[in-house]
Amino acid sequence: MDLDFTPDQQAFRAEARAWLRAHVPTTPLPSLETADGFAAHRVWEAQLAADRWSVVSWPEEYGGRGVDIVRWLVFEEEYYAAGAPGRVGQNGINLLAPTLFDHGTREQRARVLPSMATGEVVWAQAWSEPEAGSDLASLISRAERTDGGWLLSGQKTWSSRAAFADRAFGLFRSEPDTPRPHQGLTYLMFDLRAPGVTVRPIGRLDGKPAFAELFLDDVFVPDEDVIGEPGQGWRVAMSTAGNERGLTLRSPGRFLAAADRLLNLWRQQGSSPTTHDRVADAVIGARAYQLFTYANASRFLDGESIGPESSLNKVFWSEYDIALHETALELLGEEGELADTDWAEGYVFSLAGPIYAGTNEIQRDIIAERLLGLPKGRR
Ligand SMILES: Cc1cc2nc3c(=O)[nH]c(=O)nc-3n(C[C@H](O)[C@H](O)[C@H](O)COP(=O)(O)OP(=O)(O)OC[C@H]3O[C@@H](n4cnc5c(N)ncnc54)[C@H](O)[C@@H]3O)c2cc1C
Repeated sequence: MDLDFTPDQQAFRAEARAWLRAHVPTTPLPSLETADGFAAHRVWEAQLAADRWSVVSWPEEYGGRGVDIVRWLVFEEEYYAAGAPGRVGQNGINLLAPTLFDHGTREQRARVLPSMATGEVVWAQAWSEPEAGSDLASLISRAERTDGGWLLSGQKTWSSRAAFADRAFGLFRSEPDTPRPHQGLTYLMFDLRAPGVTVRPIGRLDGKPAFAELFLDDVFVPDEDVIGEPGQGWRVAMSTAGNERGLTLRSPGRFLAAADRLLNLWRQQGSSPTTHDRVADAVIGARAYQLFTYANASRFLDGESIGPESSLNKVFWSEYDIALHETALELLGEEGELADTDWAEGYVFSLAGPIYAGTNEIQRDIIAERLLGLPKGRR
């Protein structure tokens, strides 16, 4: 495999780096989990979009640059290395957009994607329910047929940043009596400010109010907001899930930059000999994840699909992230846990990694059954 970048790829990297150097705010924006921070991050999204850096891999007609996945990975490396703000539009950009590219209509893409690219419309994922997380197919929120569309009812929960988002995408049961729970589900987009929607923030230990549960009471959704065929929502949802766990949710650039910060911290703290193995592991792990991702990207460019290997990715990055932050906190000593540092905040968030995007226990089941061919466990 050729690991050198082509002159075109290098030129793209240089252009991205120069733009980021000129535009990344010198003072970090407030947390995107707060109202002020959410608004500030929206402005940043618009700034990225104005110069076509928001969604580089999308076709130009929707605001992108039409670059391939290798250039997207290059952009992500530069983005994180520049310390640029978190992406407030990430659920839409990383989850809904690939789903629309695979299953949406041309009309839906033209209507939804441009405002997603600019941050004018920010999307939340409304999948989980109080009794449907890992076993998503057991969901009970309903979509009932009405004139020209559907009426949604039920409760969704754990919806990231839904307290401030504009619209949401989710799965609903449209046929109540099917032989299997995966059947009779429909994938819909809906407005979080529509009549019948109540958005209630979930109290978090850090006091930030963006996480929310959603209560839906006969919320009207027009037919044009169904993605794929009614009743075929599971198939559509699995393409979203593949994207979430696979290439697009946590790009290697994020961890390469974090490992670099850790190495600097280690040097600043006097190169502690008791932690050098763990710091080295973090640096090696980030590089290994980068190479593994480039290998997957090459397969993808050769026309292969990624499939259940995306579960390997998900387990790797989520466990890697915790180990990296634990090492940072150990280097910082008691100050690390007491002070309001990025490392302490990052550590708390890293603990959620094995839960969201499908828990790691479920990913290990998928790896065992579908990659290793082990017998199915009893459910
Ligand atoms: C930070 C964060 C952000 C999130 N954002 C969103 C969002 O934006 N939108 C959204 O819809 N959801 C979101 N979620 C919800 C997330 O998808 C669910 O928490 C996750 O799917 C697990 O579901 P659950 O919480 O109901 O746990 P459960 O499914 O009840 O699982 C509880 C425990 O049992 C284990 N378990 C369950 N079934 C099995 C099995 N068959 N084999 C082995 N072990 C099993 C699980 O691994 C877990 O450890 C978010 C969660 C977090 C933590």
